[in-house]
Amino acid sequence: MPDAHHVVIIGGGFGGLSAAIGLKRAPVRVTLIDRCNYHLFQPLLYQVATGALSPANIASPLRNILKRQRNTRVLLGEATTIDAKNHRVILSDGEVAYDTLIVATGSSHQYFGHDEWGKFAPGLKTVEDATSMRRRILLAFEAAEREQDPEKLQAWLTFVIVGAGATGAELAGALAEIARDTLRHDFRTIDPSKSRILLVEGTDRVLPSYPPSLSASAQHMLGRLGVVVRTGAMVTEIQKHSVTIREGDRSEEIPTRTILWAAGVLASPLGRMLAESTGAPVDKAGRLIVEPDLSIAGHPEILVIGDLANFSHQTGQPLPGVAQPAIQQGKYVARLVQHRLKGTPAKRFHYFDKGNLATIGRGAAIADLNWVRISGLPAWLLWIFIHLLYIVEFQNRLLILLQWGWLYLSWDRSARLITGENPLPLDL
Ligand SMILES: Cc1cc2nc3c(=O)[nH]c(=O)nc-3n(C[C@H](O)[C@H](O)[C@H](O)COP(=O)(O)OP(=O)(O)OC[C@H]3O[C@@H](n4cnc5c(N)ncnc54)[C@H](O)[C@@H]3O)c2cc1C
Repeated sequence: MPDAHHVVIIGGGFGGLSAAIGLKRAPVRVTLIDRCNYHLFQPLLYQVATGALSPANIASPLRNILKRQRNTRVLLGEATTIDAKNHRVILSDGEVAYDTLIVATGSSHQYFGHDEWGKFAPGLKTVEDATSMRRRILLAFEAAEREQDPEKLQAWLTFVIVGAGATGAELAGALAEIARDTLRHDFRTIDPSKSRILLVEGTDRVLPSYPPSLSASAQHMLGRLGVVVRTGAMVTEIQKHSVTIREGDRSEEIPTRTILWAAGVLASPLGRMLAESTGAPVDKAGRLIVEPDLSIAGHPEILVIGDLANFSHQTGQPLPGVAQPAIQQGKYVARLVQHRLKGTPAKRFHYFDKGNLATIGRGAAIADLNWVRISGLPAWLLWIFIHLLYIVEFQNRLLILLQWGWLYLSWDRSARLITGENPLPLDL
């Protein structure tokens, strides 16, 4: 159908992929552009960072997912800007014309004006981030095994996680399990279970987007694992060998060699480019403020979904930056395009909140399902079930289930590989 209406989707994450799949039977041509050749299941990235899963377990090639969808082609490419006037997406190495454009390029972490902290405190967004975090964590134990100086040894065995949202709490719990259980018999000089794991949070409780009772349960479960939670603590400085936090009037410099960043979200830079090209408004986090049908003001042919969109028409507040809004918005825009082609009226987007889940460790999780709140083992089992359900490919579902089964029985995290450049000599 060379003359069919051309829908271009930028981003093959949760939003872009569900939009593409939603257009499977539509009389349109679809082009899905992503700078990666795979769809990444970000909620399990922390398991790659902590050696429980391998990157390939949580990523699936976009071409493979869409290989039977005849009206869709996948292009590996990076969108650098949008020429909204002439309906073209400008790539770093070419351009693609569109009739309808769906922008779903997501978000990344931010350092609140301190980008220099990124060198010492990596965030978690991509496969590369996860393998580099895994490398830092494992290298810290290797260096500790060889360290002679007691003060330096303490710094190697101190792990600071900044931000106690879902990712921070999950990382802290997994690190505590590594230190206490996985590595228990692996070293001869150090005792990994003596590691200090600090979870630093600026607000007054962990998992602040959850109801206070669930935050309290999560904090209790973290405490049981040996994680020290410091709430009401703001990070004021990060250097190679330390992090400084301020609690009220008190400032404290904590010597550490491993700082992991799990705070702050900033929309993809393409949002600002699109705003410049169309005059559409953006919020402080760089998200495009969208209309009730997810288009941007003055450009009904441009639809913005997922983490990049600020949709405030339902509650007066933007929807949370999690997978469900992105998936539901992807499905909605696919239906919207078909309504427009048929000339039939479409309803405005409505988000159905199915609830939220976060895991702390083995048998420990919290779930806010709106009609019921649970914590502990039942929430953890639900967490496993939901995550397996949303993994895109059957093969990965099976592999993850096997890996988790093995981890559950043996405490072993088999993906404990230090990859990347040769780390020697160690920075002792
Ligand atoms: C570590 C972590 C843990 C999370 N845990 C949870 C969780 O437990 N539960 C939950 O619901 N949500 C979780 N989230 C949030 C959830 O993953 C996001 O809300 C969701 O991925 C947003 O979907 P999206 O389609 O907007 O963007 P994404 O899924 O981020 O997809 C964006 C896509 O766009 C591509 N892209 C970006 N820029 C360009 C460009 N210029 N050109 C071409 N391609 C581009 C990217 O490669 C990517 O494939 C987590 C996120 C992270 C980072």
